[in-house]
Amino acid sequence: MLQQTRAQTVIPYYHRFLKRFPDAKTLAEAREADVLACWSGLGYYSRARNLQRAACQIVAGGSFPADYDGIRALPGVGPYTAAAVASIAFESPHAVLDGNVMRVIARLRGDGADIGSAKTRARFQQIADDLLDRKHPGRFNQAIMELGATICLPRGPQCAECPVARFCEAQRTGRQHELPVKRGKPIVQRLRMRLAVVERDGAVLLRQRPAGASLMAGFWEFPALEDLPEWREEENLGSFRHTITNHHYTITVLTGRISRAPAGLQWRSRDVLEAIPLTTISRKALRLLASTSSQVKKQEMMS
Ligand code: SF4
Repeated sequence: MLQQTRAQTVIPYYHRFLKRFPDAKTLAEAREADVLACWSGLGYYSRARNLQRAACQIVAGGSFPADYDGIRALPGVGPYTAAAVASIAFESPHAVLDGNVMRVIARLRGDGADIGSAKTRARFQQIADDLLDRKHPGRFNQAIMELGATICLPRGPQCAECPVARFCEAQRTGRQHELPVKRGKPIVQRLRMRLAVVERDGAVLLRQRPAGASLMAGFWEFPALEDLPEWREEENLGSFRHTITNHHYTITVLTGRISRAPAGLQWRSRDVLEAIPLTTISRKALRLLASTSSQVKKQEMMS
């Protein structure tokens, strides 16, 4: 859950998910649609699918793997997660390397190489491995991650508070604010999207993303206006922003009518929307719809 997502955002999802799927067996035996519904709103849904595949693998293997290679072989687990779990849970000597640790290493060594390049990453992994305290790898990894997250901050490193300041080349040469170096930032794309909300007898018109879709396969979503040829607009409910990596969307939600539902779209009762996997954008649109409906009800009661 924490891959690409802040801990603060994850906490309520984490508790809800563990309540629903308290162990690997329960998760392995669950329907994928239920797993995705419980993950809905957190984004990057391949993580949920991988987690369930990992649960199946763990159940089939009889127990959680206790070494780096076994953990790394689980679906969705990369070198960072495998090193973190192996060192913290099993005291295996594997150094973690994430953005925070790369920043700390670049500054400690006064290294101006581009941290976006695979070559630098491999070299920094070697440095992290060399620095690792082999007697206490779990504590060392947590300490260096925490140092990056709380003291050696991207802007405004707290060098006066830093426990490793006397070993730090960037501090010695006053280059803290120049490091790390990252070239070739991805270009941000700004996009607009108009979503259509059509309601009928307590149901809304949705489409399901194809099973083979590269993103959010099988998820339900409100159609785009372009999907509805015979569209008659009623109301503009407003707009919200949504960001997926370097794509920044401005999404406008419109209500309206159509004479017949085009092929591929289905009516789904509003009562079941919490229980089906719905894309995050559509969940935000639904919240906008709910808040507008409650405002209308309030105005009707007051008039
Ligand atoms: S001394 Fe400053 S720049 Fe160096 S590791 Fe500590 S916080 Fe980062």
